[in-house]
Amino acid sequence: MAALSASAALATARALPVHNFSAGPSLLPPSVIERVSAEVRHYEPAGGPLPEIRFTGPAFGDLIETAEADLRALMDIPSDYAVLFMAGGATAQFSLLPLNLLGARTRASYVDSGYWSRRALQEGRRYCSVQSLDADPDRLPERVASESAYCHITSNETVDGWAYAQLPRLPTVPLVADMSSDFLARAVTVSDFGLIYASAQKNLGATGLAIVIVRRDLLGRAASSTPAVFDYTRQSAARSLLNTPPTFAVYLTTRMLQWVRANGGVAAMERASLRKSARLYDAIDASAGFYVCTVPIAGRSRINVCFTLRDEALTAVFLRRAQQEGFMHLAGHSQRGGIRASLYNALPDAAVSALAEFMRDFARRRG
Ligand SMILES: *Cc1c(COP(=O)(O)O)cnc(C)c1O
Repeated sequence: MAALSASAALATARALPVHNFSAGPSLLPPSVIERVSAEVRHYEPAGGPLPEIRFTGPAFGDLIETAEADLRALMDIPSDYAVLFMAGGATAQFSLLPLNLLGARTRASYVDSGYWSRRALQEGRRYCSVQSLDADPDRLPERVASESAYCHITSNETVDGWAYAQLPRLPTVPLVADMSSDFLARAVTVSDFGLIYASAQKNLGATGLAIVIVRRDLLGRAASSTPAVFDYTRQSAARSLLNTPPTFAVYLTTRMLQWVRANGGVAAMERASLRKSARLYDAIDASAGFYVCTVPIAGRSRINVCFTLRDEALTAVFLRRAQQEGFMHLAGHSQRGGIRASLYNALPDAAVSALAEFMRDFARRRG
């Protein structure tokens, strides 16, 4: 962390552990940081520093193939789905979805569940007529228009702390999901979706990269104006190597995927996220209204725990005290305020237990 504030520097000086609760880019496990640091200097398969790796050479070919194979193993991705590594993060996908999936259709449905789904929906409006639907954490709306090319959902709303309790199914229209913030943190039946995409910066730590998992029968529909590097069909044929890909981000993704596999896979990540989030929601619910979570219980995110303080004026005090104790980046999104604790896969249980204890202590002193 380059820009540690004075109080965080103080926490470090007192040898307190510093816990990163940032909503993204996410923290990385110490073992991954160690390995990446060494491989940046010397990556044996390439015979030199990692950032100098040639994307057309065998060493990088191995990396991207390993990333795809590990992801397929972790998510049990069927063979009739292509896996793409694309530049531009999830935000680029907001435009690439309609460009690639509309084909001859002129309409798409979007479930409006919060900040990120609205961003996707607004971008969709530039390309087609949009059916906007209200969100329900337990199911999809029943009125999804049958003429829609796809129906878009956001499985976990990173800003609002809202998520589907169970991922929905939709037999009529291809279901497209932005899984940026709960990718590899919950079990997913890939065959329930036409397309899944995720910005790698959340659970995989690499900025600027999006992973796209698309059913092959949805390929071949891109609008003729689609830039070649953003054409799913062309990138699939080129194995995501149509141009120089973000090589470092792909490399970092391989290391994170290996970490997830070594630590029990998606099932273990899901159990951990349930356990970690329950600790914070318990602290909120037991605080007699000192902390308030306005998300209905069925829709509470297991990744981004958002809450406010009954006495809003105490928010700044809470954040300052938390930072002094080494709990970093707990401020809510600029559009929402309040507190947000993001519990990505790499965040250890101990960090969450310590934060819950801090919250109880703070409420006792100030309540
Ligand atoms: C972070 C996030 C995005 C945007 O990701 P970028 O990498 O900034 O493009 C989109 N959707 C969701 C759900 C997110 O959490």
